[in-house]
Amino acid sequence: MRVLVVEDEPDLLASIARALRDEGYAVDTAADGEDGLFKAESWEYDAIVLDLMLPAVDGWEILRRLRHANKTVPVLILTARDAVADRVRGLDSGADDYLTKPFDLAELLARIRALVRRHVGHARSTIEIGDMVLDLRARTVTRGGRVIPLTPREYALVEYLALHRGKVVSRTELYDHLFGEDDDTLSNLLDVHVSNIRKKLGHDAIQTRRGHGYLME
Ligand code: CA
Repeated sequence: MRVLVVEDEPDLLASIARALRDEGYAVDTAADGEDGLFKAESWEYDAIVLDLMLPAVDGWEILRRLRHANKTVPVLILTARDAVADRVRGLDSGADDYLTKPFDLAELLARIRALVRRHVGHARSTIEIGDMVLDLRARTVTRGGRVIPLTPREYALVEYLALHRGKVVSRTELYDHLFGEDDDTLSNLLDVHVSNIRKKLGHDAIQTRRGHGYLME
């Protein structure tokens, strides 16, 4: 899952990005509204964390432009405490959720998980595929009741395929959603992850469709 964070307070931006990366998300960052708008319009993010008060272009304008362009990406806005009018305006402009500063990073992560899940039409926090169970909250995978230790990036790959189960996901789509702007996208990296996941979860866990992509069903 790839998330864009638009926030002009450097410390806050860095701590949000770090928390998301620790959870295995690919993260892009923007320190002003202009860069944020450019990235939001250029890439297919799975969620956007958007501060409202920004230099150059403010958060409402970014939101307005995205929704006007029919981009349905889930957006969580960050607002100042007691700024009820800001929150109302943000939600009316097409934001999906909000957090008031200061907030707990654990709560931000929980809200992002819920937004991403609902956006792909999955309301529950577990996915069962055969004897494999993904717990989206704990970010764990069990097979036959046994917990399979995966790296954050491996988990992210399995989660993405599981959320789109039954659908062939192209390599391009996986690269777009699993790697951020700062990631080194070596062409064989995806195959390495898939191969490692198969060693842990079983070869049948992920199917290859030659020339098309990968599939879980
Ligand atoms: Ca700000």
